[in-house]
Parts: sequence; structure tokens; C-alpha cells
Amino acid sequence: FYGSHEPDSLVKTHCCYCGMQCGIQLKVKENKVVGFEPWMEFPFNEGRLCPKGVERYLQNNHPDRLLAPLKRVEGKGFQQVSWDYAMDKTVGEIKRIQEAYGNNAFAMLSGVSLTNEKSYMIGKFARVALKTANLDYNGRLCMVSAGAGNKKAFGLDRSSNSWADLAHAEVIIVAGANISETFPTLTHYIWRARDNGAKLIVVDPRIIPLARTADLHLNVIPGGDSALFGAMLKILVDNDWLDHEFIANYTSGFQEAINAVRDYDLDWAEKYTGVAKEKIFEAARLWGKAKTSFLLHARGIEHHTKGVDNVLSCINLVLATGRIGKPYCGYGTITGQGNGQGGREHGHKCDQLPGNRDITNPEHRQYIADVWGISEQELPGKGLTAYEQIEAIHRGEIKGLISICFNPLVSLPNNNYVREALEKLEFYMCIDSFLSETARYADIIMAGSLHEEEEGTVTTAEGRVVKINAAVTPPKNARKDGEILMELAGRLNEGDKFSFDSSEAIFNELRLASKGGTADYFGITYEKVVNNMGVFWPCPSLDHPGTPRLWEDRKFKTPDGKAHFNAVSFKPPSEVIDTDYPVVLTTGRVVSQYLSGTSTRRIGKLVDQYPEPLLEIHPELARRYNIRSGDIIRVKTRRGEAEFPAQVVETIRKDTVFIPYHWGGKHAANQLTIGNLDPISKIPEFKVCACQLIPTGEV
Ligand code: SF4
Repeated sequence: FYGSHEPDSLVKTHCCYCGMQCGIQLKVKENKVVGFEPWMEFPFNEGRLCPKGVERYLQNNHPDRLLAPLKRVEGKGFQQVSWDYAMDKTVGEIKRIQEAYGNNAFAMLSGVSLTNEKSYMIGKFARVALKTANLDYNGRLCMVSAGAGNKKAFGLDRSSNSWADLAHAEVIIVAGANISETFPTLTHYIWRARDNGAKLIVVDPRIIPLARTADLHLNVIPGGDSALFGAMLKILVDNDWLDHEFIANYTSGFQEAINAVRDYDLDWAEKYTGVAKEKIFEAARLWGKAKTSFLLHARGIEHHTKGVDNVLSCINLVLATGRIGKPYCGYGTITGQGNGQGGREHGHKCDQLPGNRDITNPEHRQYIADVWGISEQELPGKGLTAYEQIEAIHRGEIKGLISICFNPLVSLPNNNYVREALEKLEFYMCIDSFLSETARYADIIMAGSLHEEEEGTVTTAEGRVVKINAAVTPPKNARKDGEILMELAGRLNEGDKFSFDSSEAIFNELRLASKGGTADYFGITYEKVVNNMGVFWPCPSLDHPGTPRLWEDRKFKTPDGKAHFNAVSFKPPSEVIDTDYPVVLTTGRVVSQYLSGTSTRRIGKLVDQYPEPLLEIHPELARRYNIRSGDIIRVKTRRGEAEFPAQVVETIRKDTVFIPYHWGGKHAANQLTIGNLDPISKIPEFKVCACQLIPTGEV
């Protein structure tokens, strides 16, 4: 179907470029992925793929692929070394640094496109072999605000329904989620709902493709989200568009939540959201009078210093109308990264243990310590989040780092500050498949594996655990990531706790470690996943069918068993525009690129679709600066500056410019963004800061 060769075999697996995890069949010939065919039977995407999905097979044989371990030679770039040398050097530096400065002086950062098995093993490796508290993951830049909000409100962190319910909802709100570009195959479910007569409300500062077809587009100013949702809650209350029976019997905190928005009248709301008050009222009316509804959000409302508040203000709307745990009624965050859902469940977050257990809870700690065969005292405590690790490197508290499939020099905010931190490290070892911008700062690079080279499972954004099948083995002298970690653990004298002979053996330990946690995988086996083309967690026993729709029993996982309203008071962003920096800057993604672009920026057909980051600017704002499409504009913030060609478009607010963040170096949008963090989730405020626009006179 796609790709030029007749394959030796077709391997059923999943696309790795977003949390939809569309089913795909890879064509394999002579240990190379040479094309793909659709997997029509896989229930979520039924063969459909997006522009990234149809080109993803091209990452496998890319000439830039790292094929052997490397060491950095000052002034001469990288030199190939043996695995023995790379391992010895890394273990020697770990021991030297930890003996000199303490165990927590060596940190670890991991990606969240990795399988559940690798996520689990990384969490265990960092705590048991590396013996550090300082492990975090790049989901910290993605869906942690949603996770924290979900846990506060429901006691469990997962979208409430399978996407199948979405197709039958009467009203859908999509808030800060550019679905057609970032999770394209999910758009089909919105179209199905539209065909069934659904009303669509899109909340976004830009007229994203989905907004062009919406009944209502609420062009909220970046940072105004909780003002908008708070005002909508007040309208629901004022008009009695409430589910009193649900609120009384199954929730707590309603009165406190409505007290917090008591003064949010429509004039106030218009001022703080930038959205016409008639539109705010109409959105609340549509939501309030519907019988079924679905609310979806993503990074647009979550990438804020008030990201958790924004999420909670969305959940308040869902709870006020009682539309959860029923057919065609739901709520969810759309995880952007390949295993954004599973990756946040198995313990490679600094504050969490497998099963989504709390690392500060003594019972949770004891349970995991028993599974791992260590004492509770040996289990490190809560460590630093990803950006906090960068700050700790600057303070001299962290001296050594291992990263695996994480490119912080592109994906963390305030890139210049991140670069300075990497330069301060005494030792940095990176496991990756390509030489990313960050890997260039490593002392040792271990050539790891791609998605199609390891067996395992991932958990889709709707909570469905699916099977990843290895199509090929790592080329030349590259190795599987899991094998690299196991050998390191052995050389750190903890090999007996990492003696897994298959990915299934890791999964079986993961199942046990998750047992009784809120993310309970105990009843999920490889066989069950394959036979059913996925199993939804929680699945607490072998005879349990899995849980596509949560909360049908109204038994929430909070301590009191109720869903919790939360009082949310609107607060402005951490940096607002002023006379020096008079324009709002927001960032996001484009359809042809994935995260920091380490893989997708190397695929020519994807680069052709969008070769370089463009500065989107409204014609009215462009006129003020005498800017035309194609002009090179220097964008300056208090953190740095970078230059981008302008793209004058009608599809953005007049006070805001947009730049996609997938590029590094001089094209890095994250040279400009701010490192201020949400106090609960510790997500950085990627979606709003203040900037200057300086036309360079060049085109
Ligand atoms: Fe891959 Fe996501 Fe596109 Fe599906 S929607 S093909 S998982 S990038």
C-alpha cells in the first residue's frame, strides 16, 4: 500500500507520534521497515492515519540513526566507542559523583513516548539502581496539570470515557486542543457527532481548523481560561441549568465553587477573557440545556502557571450538569505524547510510584518496596521536577544526568538557561536514537532503540492498553533501551532486581506493582490485550473486562468517594504585557511535527509540509509594525530572542502571536518562553508570555 517493497512480513503495531496510538501494520523486509498498510480492524482508527502516521515508517532506516555508542572528544565532536567503554565510563562517573555529592546529585530525565514497560523500568532503575530521588519525565511538559486536576476532582487520572461516547454527545466543548493538527484521527469522532447533530464549541485564541466548523468559537485571550469557565459556571447557576440530584448525592464542594465565581458577571468575563459576552452566554446555554455532552481539553488550557485551576474549572462545568459516568457524557484530557497516559502511571514521575501511587504515602511506599525487594527506607522520596532539575544544576546540587529520549534543549522553556545548565554538568549520558540538540552536550551517548524495535504496551489517551510489536531489531551496534538499563543496573550491583528475560516479564511485574493502585493493570495480560485489541484500565482481576467508561457506579476514588468541585478564582498569567513587551506570545504544534522534532524533523516529506517555524500574526497587528508575510521578525522576550518569518493570518487574535515549538537552535520558540511553573503540577507556562516584535528589514 505505501512504501516500495513487497514485504517479508506485516507487523501489527501502533503509530508512535501521538496519544491516539492508531493501529498500523508495518511492512518489514530484511530487518528493515519499508512501508505500511492500514490496520482496518483496529477499533479506534479503523485504518485511518494522519500525515505523520503515513510517514512514520521512514524514521527506521534514516541515515542519521545512531548505530553505536559515542563519546564526546573536546573540540572534535563524537567518537565511536565500545559498549564496554560507554558502560564503564557511565558507571564510574555515577559512583564518583554520588560518593562526592550524594545520591541525589545524579538525576534522570525520561521521555514519555516510551512503552509502559520502559516507563516502569526507568522508575525502578532510578530508585533502586541509581538510588536517586531526582527522576522526572517530559510528561511534566505535557499533561501533568490535567493529571493533578483529575486526581483532585475524581481521585483518578484518566479520561472518563472511550472516544466511542464522543460520537454521540449532543454538545462538545473542545478547549485548548488543536485536534485536527495534533490528534488528527480523533477529528473523525467529532465529525461523527456533528453528523448526529452535535453542537461544537471551540475555545482557542486561534481559529484552528476545528473552529472553522464550530457553532461557537470562543477566542479566549491566552491565560483567560478559568475566567471563561468560571463565568459559564455562574450562568449555569443563575439559570438553574444544574443537575441537583447528582450534585447533592455524588459531589462535594459545590457551594465553595460557586462562591468563587459569584462576581463573574458577563461584563467582567468579557474583559478578562476577550470573548464577547453574548458568546459566553450562548456557550453556557448550549452546555446547560444539553442532555449529553463531552468536554475535551489539552495543552492550550494546561500549559499555564494556573494550569491545574483551568482544568478544575472545566471539571466544575461537567459536575454541575452531572454529565459523567453516563452514556455519551464524558470529560477528558487528550494526551499529546505517544504514551502520555501510560507514561504517567508507572512511576517515572518524581512524585509518583507505579499504579499511580503517591511517593509520599507510607503504605504506597511499603507496597512498592515489597514488590521491588527493598526496604521502605531504601526507597528515595519525592524528587525534583524536570525544570526544577535544571534550576538545581545551576545551584550546583545536581552534577550528573542520564536522559533517555528527552530533548530538553528544545522542549523545556527558557532554552538559554537550559543550555547553560547542560554546560555546568560534570557528566551527562544520553540514551537516544538520533543526535538531538541536547545529546550534543552529552559526554556519552548510548545508541538506543526506536518504537518499532521493542515489544511492549502503551496506553492510549482514552485509557486503552494496546500492544506494541517489535518489527525489527536495532541496527548494527545500537541496543534496546531496556537492555541498556538492565546492564547498567547490573554494573551498579542491582542486577538481580532487573533480570527480566522478556518485555512480558516486565509487564507482569508492572501488573503486580499497579495492583490496588488507582491505575490498576493487574487483570491485563498480553494475551488479553492482543485478543481484544486493547483493554481499558482499571482492570483489577483476570476475569475483569476492563473499564471503557468510568464512574457508572458513581464511586469516585477520592477519600470521601465523591467527585470534588474546586473553588477556582481567576488569576492572571505570570507575565502580562506592558509597554516594553506589548504583545502576547503563545506556542503550540503543527500537524507535520511531533514534540521536539528529533525524529520528524528528519523525515523529508514531513519537513516539506512545514519547513520552518512561522510567526503567525493578525493583519491589524502586522500593520502596526509594517510587517508583511515573509518578513523576518525578531521576537524578543526577557529570556532571549529569535527570528522567524512572519505569516500574516486572519486566524489569530489581534493581540497575540503564535510560534510552533518543534525546532531548536536559532529557530527555537522555547528560547522565548518563561520557566514559571504551576505550583501544583509544576508545568511551565508555555502558552503565554510577553514579547516585543522587531522587523529586521530582511525577508
Ligand atoms: Fe499517529 Fe497520532 Fe497521527 Fe494516529 S493521529 S497516525 S497516532 S500521529
